[in-house]
Amino acid sequence: PEKGQLVLEARNVTRRFGGLVANNQMNLQLHAGEVLALIGPNGAGKSTMFNQLSAVDTPSEGEVLFLDQSLKGKTSREVAHMGMSRTFQHVKLLTTMTVLENVALGTHMRGNKGIISASLHIEREEEQRLLKEAQFQLERVGLGEHLYTEAGSLSLGQQRILEIARALCADPCVLLLDEPAAGLRHKEKQALAELLQKLRQEGLAILLVEHDMDFVMNLADRIVVMEFGEKIAEGLPEEIQSNPAVLEAYLGG
Ligand code: ADP
Ligand code: MG
Repeated sequence: PEKGQLVLEARNVTRRFGGLVANNQMNLQLHAGEVLALIGPNGAGKSTMFNQLSAVDTPSEGEVLFLDQSLKGKTSREVAHMGMSRTFQHVKLLTTMTVLENVALGTHMRGNKGIISASLHIEREEEQRLLKEAQFQLERVGLGEHLYTEAGSLSLGQQRILEIARALCADPCVLLLDEPAAGLRHKEKQALAELLQKLRQEGLAILLVEHDMDFVMNLADRIVVMEFGEKIAEGLPEEIQSNPAVLEAYLGG
């Protein structure tokens, strides 16, 4: 997609869990070359929204469109093939394997059953292709010097970046990140922000769910704020920062 093109859209998405409305008539739009942050207090419905957007879950009402196609009936695997990639809140690394192997194997497992079949049934040619792709993505995110480092010896910040390299394999146009800055030290957050800025510059559309206000304010082009399942504000970081409803709901709460 061209920069500025609409790539992912939620239209009146409602998700109920029994009597609880976790997302109520949510609308949001994500464009190529943009970082959109979804923020809000605990229980606001951010993860639920994230799951609707990534086809992990299905809306009770409304729909999600990715590259003008409805995600209705699509599996998260199919959506990944269409060019949407996500990271998970809890990084699962194979700590005694190398960084390169983690990314290569992670990519392979994405389309397969599990680690055993992944380890045993890779054809030699396929293995070479996966390793090459993994190396390319690791260099892209700045971990090129750590290809043969044991993954378990990376800092938490580097592990998060490894996860992003994994998500970048297969060349997605949309990247969904669930609290990428959680638990990181200041320097690590800076490195992560720089990487996301670079990926945005390359034309990726990035949506992140994030608690860390400072991180979001310095990085996001636009912010959507949720409370009690609804969108209560949307705008530029400086608009959000001074929005009374947001201060009340999020900063004050
Ligand atoms: P956030 O990520 O903003 O903290 P969530 O989307 O996780 O919020 O949750 C929003 C609301 O929906 C919460 O009240 C939560 O308890 C509820 N909820 C989330 N997932 C489920 C589920 N699978 N079943 C029942 N309730 C859920
Ligand atoms: Mg959550």
